[in-house]
Amino acid sequence: MATDYYAVLGVRRDASQDEIKKAFRRLARELHPDVNPDPKTQERFKEINAAYEVLSDPQKKQVYDLGGDPLSQAGGGAGGFGAGGFGNFSDIMDAFFGTASQRGPRSRTRRGQDAMIRLDIELDEAAFGTTKDIQVDTAIVCTTCNGEGAAPGTSAQTCDMCRGRGEVSQVTRSFLGQVMTSRPCPQCQGFGTVVPTPCPECAGDGRIRSRRTLTVKIPAGVDNGTRIQLAGEGEVGPGGGPAGDLYVEIHELPHAMFQRRGDDLHCTVTLPMTAASLGTKVPLETLDGLEEVDIRPGTQSGQSIPLHGRGVTHLRGGGRGDLIVHVEVMTPSKLDPEQERLLRELALLRGEERPTGQFQPGQQGLFSRLKDAFNGR
Ligand SMILES: [Zn+2]
Ligand SMILES: [Zn+2]
Repeated sequence: MATDYYAVLGVRRDASQDEIKKAFRRLARELHPDVNPDPKTQERFKEINAAYEVLSDPQKKQVYDLGGDPLSQAGGGAGGFGAGGFGNFSDIMDAFFGTASQRGPRSRTRRGQDAMIRLDIELDEAAFGTTKDIQVDTAIVCTTCNGEGAAPGTSAQTCDMCRGRGEVSQVTRSFLGQVMTSRPCPQCQGFGTVVPTPCPECAGDGRIRSRRTLTVKIPAGVDNGTRIQLAGEGEVGPGGGPAGDLYVEIHELPHAMFQRRGDDLHCTVTLPMTAASLGTKVPLETLDGLEEVDIRPGTQSGQSIPLHGRGVTHLRGGGRGDLIVHVEVMTPSKLDPEQERLLRELALLRGEERPTGQFQPGQQGLFSRLKDAFNGR
């Protein structure tokens, strides 16, 4: 045996593949002809290439360990960079650029895309949570070819242009020396395999479109724009790849009575002046059923009455928001003579027959007070 490949790379005979690779990279960086054009160094470079070609390939390593010369069988004894050594090319590139990405053919199998679907729900469904059946148009694994992409009875074959590597390399000479470039194989688009007879059902994509019905649990407290993630319910990937996720985006339909702000609900009740003054109970259909809103005597226009815990469930942490009833007092108009007489009598009794009014700066009405409440004043 002429050369001790282990000695050439400076590794022990029981070195792991990782140690062999590291040793090769270190030497390749030192001894590459572009870095070090000295003829003696170039000889060394060929040696370490040959050594790596043998020791990095389990089959060749076994032949070598048993006393044979695997390179004489494979490449007529020449070995090294010049002949048959192109298998090491990506490792040489790794030694220089430190990248191990994009090695070998790319897989036909990829993860599927995420999908999003919009779901309209009613306010009470958002408040208490619900379960919905939704129809989803999505890509599923092709049942004819099981995602392989090949017509039944046929299979993908190793690409003869790149011999399954997925890329083709080209050597050109420049004033810097030999430059090797590699690009994805044009015949197989880098997959390393070709499908001679694509599946007629999916045209080789490995997936077909299908409509499914999914049952989605909507938690209590969701709001407009809340997204519920359903892992693995999105599109299946090409080549039978794992499915992406499905996002259900909540769109809350407007409610006839209640306006939602955060987890609180707001509505307005209009009351006659007499009721606001004397007090009353008014029925209100809340999300929890019919309830009576207690209007206390002397309630003013613009006052709000909170019904605690009658709002929307907090999405996190439990508990519920409030239902806030805003009061608007109606001034009686179109009075008949008897009503007018009674009102004048009331004004007289209250000493209000010639009121001067109380002036305050700015606008103090319901609208501005609401606005101030939102602006945090
Ligand atoms: Zn198919
Ligand atoms: Zn190819």
